[in-house]
Amino acid sequence: MEKIEAISNIVIQSKKIVVFTGAGHSTESGIPDFRSPGGIWDRFDPADFSYQKFLSSEANRERIWAFFKEVWPAVANAQPNPGHYAIAELYHMGKLDCVITQNIDSLLQKSGVPEEKVIELHGTMKWVICLGCGKRYPREEIQGRLDSGEKVPKCDACSGILKTATISFGQPMPERETREAQLRSANCDLFLVAGSSLVVYPAAQMPLIAKESGAILIIVNLTPTPHDGYADIVIYEKTGQVLPQIVEQVKVRLKG
Ligand SMILES: [Zn+2]
Repeated sequence: MEKIEAISNIVIQSKKIVVFTGAGHSTESGIPDFRSPGGIWDRFDPADFSYQKFLSSEANRERIWAFFKEVWPAVANAQPNPGHYAIAELYHMGKLDCVITQNIDSLLQKSGVPEEKVIELHGTMKWVICLGCGKRYPREEIQGRLDSGEKVPKCDACSGILKTATISFGQPMPERETREAQLRSANCDLFLVAGSSLVVYPAAQMPLIAKESGAILIIVNLTPTPHDGYADIVIYEKTGQVLPQIVEQVKVRLKG
């Protein structure tokens, strides 16, 4: 495929690649895309899971924790797919500046991308944070407490409200991560979107920052995105199929 060849050439010439992953990158690992038709937000009202709802009452927290308790095993047991491993290979080649992700599943880290190379714009399911004192708990530990009958876990240090370290609807974006993502986007030479429909802001602004700063923009997503017109190359396919092909081509060419 001509586009794969063209992209592999660009990858070879690039020194600072930023990969941007969204829900589409993890669906092949069995993590549901909450926003897709038939997804979780078709069956539940996102407004019921907002930050404001979570803060507003103990009853709401109980309901939301019951939901988190149910979805956690699927996330904890999910395994990286070939798309994740392809990104890890870019890292091993010394090409990867960082991955900016909207995903909260830690699958990039599981595939071998070092923690410090992953900017998690929407937080992570791996940790639970006390909103009072900031103490962090491994999600597994809290799951154990829920399994043994606790309905609304509280901080054992300050009795504060515990919340998963994910960014909920209505919750402010994490400042440090957002700033870091903007900076890296402005300084890369290739910005590769993998499995994001680029509709959630401010995450979706990153490819535009990269493009305006002179980077090449490539979008791999199953369906069209609002930013396709700005991209140098667009491929409408699954990232788990396309990214490994690109990396394979790069390896062949570097050897030849
Ligand atoms: Zn606390």
